[in-house]
Amino acid sequence: MVHSVKKSIALSAPEIRGNEWKYIKDCLDSGWVSSVGAYVDRFEQLVATAVGTRYAVATCNGTVALHTALLVAGVQPDDEVLVSTLTFIAPVNAIRYANAWPVFVDAERDYWQLDTAKLADFLRNGCHRIGGKLLNRSSGRCIRAILPVHILGHPVDMDPVLSLAREYQLAVIEDASECLGSRYRGRAVGSLGDIACLSFNGNKIITTGGGGMIVTDKPDWAARAKYLTTQAKDDPVEFVHGAIGYNYRLTNIQAAMGCAQLERLSSHLGSKQRIAGRYQDGLSGVPGLTVMPSAPWAQATFWLYTILIEPNESGSDSRRIMRELESNGIQSRPLWQPIHKSPAHANCQACHCDTAEWLNARALSLPSSVGLSTDDQDSVIRCLLEAYGQRS
Ligand SMILES: *Cc1c(COP(=O)(O)O)cnc(C)c1O
Repeated sequence: MVHSVKKSIALSAPEIRGNEWKYIKDCLDSGWVSSVGAYVDRFEQLVATAVGTRYAVATCNGTVALHTALLVAGVQPDDEVLVSTLTFIAPVNAIRYANAWPVFVDAERDYWQLDTAKLADFLRNGCHRIGGKLLNRSSGRCIRAILPVHILGHPVDMDPVLSLAREYQLAVIEDASECLGSRYRGRAVGSLGDIACLSFNGNKIITTGGGGMIVTDKPDWAARAKYLTTQAKDDPVEFVHGAIGYNYRLTNIQAAMGCAQLERLSSHLGSKQRIAGRYQDGLSGVPGLTVMPSAPWAQATFWLYTILIEPNESGSDSRRIMRELESNGIQSRPLWQPIHKSPAHANCQACHCDTAEWLNARALSLPSSVGLSTDDQDSVIRCLLEAYGQRS
């Protein structure tokens, strides 16, 4: 019998305990509720400061931030972009919105991030340079950019990515949606490539309900991002538009919430660390369970604490344990179907993505809300061990 838990325990619920009410009321009182306002400017400045970039451009979600970043980085129709296959689907969809094509790169076994050895192998052996362009030998298309996705609060090993990008003259667009506050060799994730994107969806480290941000050090790219996300207005009085733009801006109300959330970023990160530590203590040393790894060069935020579960003799695997937890009111989730297996992107090229499939069969993300109490977390640990057939 699995220990019973009365209330439900969510995977990642928003934490709203700061100045959100005060700042949003400011918007309502002043009438500045839409896509222009002091909170939008302030939120952009605060995020740029937090990530350590010169510029930040707010967007209405992380997916459109990625779409815009790809356009700004010069990705043209029919170009190819090298992207992690083990990711939430948004960055891959964004590549298709730009009429470009993804080429999927596997995850590595140690930290579950983009496999930079396989990336290097594809660039060396799967591509050739013709007329100053780097062409994919199998598709004949031009490779334009690398889009590493830092997953679960842990950074990709970026030095090899950056040196390959220099060698092959590719743009680097970081998807840092799950990694606000994470660091790679002391440097903030989101400040490592040419341009990066963040998400403030309800389940992320901080939330604006829905929202995103493009961050970069390049003044011309930041200006282009702002232009494209605000309908590409050349003359706002005469409504002259110099390009096909988008209505991708964040509203002042959402930005007000973001400012309040950012004030509590270090408290959110501290809670995630405490939660990770407690899972680590409670689940280490259990045969067949692998606790969440963290690289020596990483300062991970443990956005979603995730473990690997080896299928055991009694037939317990990650999906069965997920169902057991669910019946006890505890939400858990496997990692995403690797995108090279997704019906939506079935016709795209993947280079030997077997590790992503191996991880997908085993991974389970556990409740990691900033507000998770130690009692609730102990219930999760107890239920999980019982479901796996361990006496605790
Ligand atoms: C959440 C997320 C996004 C963007 O999501 P939005 O809901 O559009 O803000 C992009 N990439 C990854 C990896 C994500 O987890």
